[in-house]
Amino acid sequence: MLVIGGGPAGSTAAGMLAQRGFRVALLEKAHHPRFHIGESLLPANLPLFEQFGVANEVRAIGIEKWAAEFISPSDGRRQEFEFAGCWDKSMPFAYQVRRSELDTILIRRAGFLGAQVFEGCRAEDVEFAGEGRGVRVVANLEDGTSCAWEAQYLVDASGRDTFLGNRLHSKRRNKKHNSAAIYAHFTGARRHPGKREGNISIFWFDHGWFWFIPLADGATSVGAVVWPRYLKTREVSVEEFFLATIAQCPPLAEVLEGASLAGEVQATGNYSYTCDRSCGGNYFLVGDAYAFIDPVFSSGVMLAMQSAVAAADAIESCLREPALAASARRRFDRMMRHGPRHFLGSSTASRIRPCARCFSARETLCGCRKRCYHCLPATFLGARRFGVLCGFSKCCIT
Ligand SMILES: Cc1cc2nc3c(=O)[nH]c(=O)nc-3n(C[C@H](O)[C@H](O)[C@H](O)COP(=O)(O)OP(=O)(O)OC[C@H]3O[C@@H](n4cnc5c(N)ncnc54)[C@H](O)[C@@H]3O)c2cc1C
Repeated sequence: MLVIGGGPAGSTAAGMLAQRGFRVALLEKAHHPRFHIGESLLPANLPLFEQFGVANEVRAIGIEKWAAEFISPSDGRRQEFEFAGCWDKSMPFAYQVRRSELDTILIRRAGFLGAQVFEGCRAEDVEFAGEGRGVRVVANLEDGTSCAWEAQYLVDASGRDTFLGNRLHSKRRNKKHNSAAIYAHFTGARRHPGKREGNISIFWFDHGWFWFIPLADGATSVGAVVWPRYLKTREVSVEEFFLATIAQCPPLAEVLEGASLAGEVQATGNYSYTCDRSCGGNYFLVGDAYAFIDPVFSSGVMLAMQSAVAAADAIESCLREPALAASARRRFDRMMRHGPRHFLGSSTASRIRPCARCFSARETLCGCRKRCYHCLPATFLGARRFGVLCGFSKCCIT
């Protein structure tokens, strides 16, 4: 088996397949630890960490996140949604993590479980031998040499690089849902005291919304998700632009008063996309390599790991019961399409505005929350479990 990409999806897929006795090579173009955005996890991540055998290590690097709060741009009114308040009470919290640390834990675990891990190795080309007859991948190493890999199955976990989606011309952008993000880490940001310290805060403002994610080591990740056209108005450095953007949101500027930037300000387009096909005769796309929805749900790492487990199951079924391979692939594809469709339908992040109900009387909040849950049919992702999602679902979109 060959896995391209050593983020959460690739490391999980490689580790799971190796654990089941398959020979697995994982190619990662970078070297861990490396920076990655996407630090806020969901409660549904925790069973996946248990299953992968990394729960204790993740606990050691994470800060507990019990709730998400939404802050009104005009008057700073707040509404908090606790995970414990949702229907499934079995998962009352999640973690905020530095991705450099989380992703290192995951890739090392893949190696421990028996996958051969090659860092500094970038997959460049792919050739398919034909339905069910394997795949050949050429990769470049950092010393300028290249090497070729032949495998029975290829798992593309290359994230937003979309290695196969690009080569198979199957990547479709969602034109209605393009947004961009600009972000950095701060030290010295003001946090909630006690148990609420690790909660995520979402601040709306005129051009989109901000995340405020406290990390365990005292740093805070702050990012703005905005319309690309707002980003295009930039005439100063990225850093100046980011600080000026923060100044447009007084409740956020207040908690960042006296805080300092810790590192570079980065910007990225996060145009939403999905690939036409999640799998073929000898390949599977997992995580962001298949689809990227929107950071608003903090769902990326969970979706990446869920889809990796599903790919490992599907590959095992294909190999152990070849007669059932087609149905295993169909099952995988159905599952991959199901989740993102619901999230896409209810995200459209830049159009989200705080629902008046969410910021008004408590008695109407309950009704709002209930309707919001109804907007999110239980998918394979267990979307119902995301108590916090109710703040973002359809009845909150204006
Ligand atoms: C602005 C922003 C904010 C986000 N916030 C959150 C959040 O709060 N919570 C959350 O859960 N998610 C968040 N996400 C999404 C999250 O970052 C991703 O969904 C998640 O990282 C997907 O994991 P992955 O393993 O599929 O891809 P990645 O984590 O991107 O891993 C892909 C890996 O493949 C490697 N690679 C790529 N191409 C090649 C190649 N050709 N050869 C070898 N290696 C290759 C890359 O170096 C990388 O290590 C956010 C995303 C954005 C853009």
